[in-house]
Amino acid sequence: MTCPVHIEPPALSALAGTTAAPEVPCPDLPCPDCALPRLLDPLGGWLVCGNPHCPNLAIGAPVWRELDAAVAAGAPDLCPPGWPRPQRGGFPVPWLTPVTAAAGPLWKLVHGARLVQAQTVWCCQTCGLPCEAAAAVVVVDEAGRCRTSAPLHERCAVLSLAVCPDLARSGARAVAVTRADIAAEGDTDLALGLTARWRVQQALADMADLAEHAAGAVR
Ligand SMILES: [Zn+2]
Ligand SMILES: [Zn+2]
Repeated sequence: MTCPVHIEPPALSALAGTTAAPEVPCPDLPCPDCALPRLLDPLGGWLVCGNPHCPNLAIGAPVWRELDAAVAAGAPDLCPPGWPRPQRGGFPVPWLTPVTAAAGPLWKLVHGARLVQAQTVWCCQTCGLPCEAAAAVVVVDEAGRCRTSAPLHERCAVLSLAVCPDLARSGARAVAVTRADIAAEGDTDLALGLTARWRVQQALADMADLAEHAAGAVR
């Protein structure tokens, strides 16, 4: 297996840690009441109207929901499903990452509705394309809990482990699963972005993982 991108894991950490403006004006995500650009908190992922004369003042909305609304109204999807992944700053952008025109990828955040979709229709969190029910991968901790509760293709798990320093440091491991191997806890709700927590049996979590593929792919 080969990795399609040039990867420098420490640099991604620097990218994600870049000091961001606390409120980024988003002209492409205007307030529905006053039509002025809303302000994005790029760390928390909330959009708010900052117009003191607007009835919508300071009422927050999750940025992923507003991105979906904009796409439904005809705006381009800045992070569409597909493979290979679009890149920003030389790094592949997961399908699960909210991407705004004003602030770019919000690397630390998750698109709530897309995670629900990945869980319910068994599509890949990294590329957004369907996974096979009998052959997917999840990335788990030592107790078998999924780091992000959604399936991946093997190629996408390899990519994620290779480029994400947090995952690498945490000792997370990729294990091959079928859909029947997943124990889900909690409800899902597409509109609310409410997602379930997944885990796999300890025996699976203890199996030889795919991380060595990741290491090999970037050397
Ligand atoms: Zn407003
Ligand atoms: Zn994938």
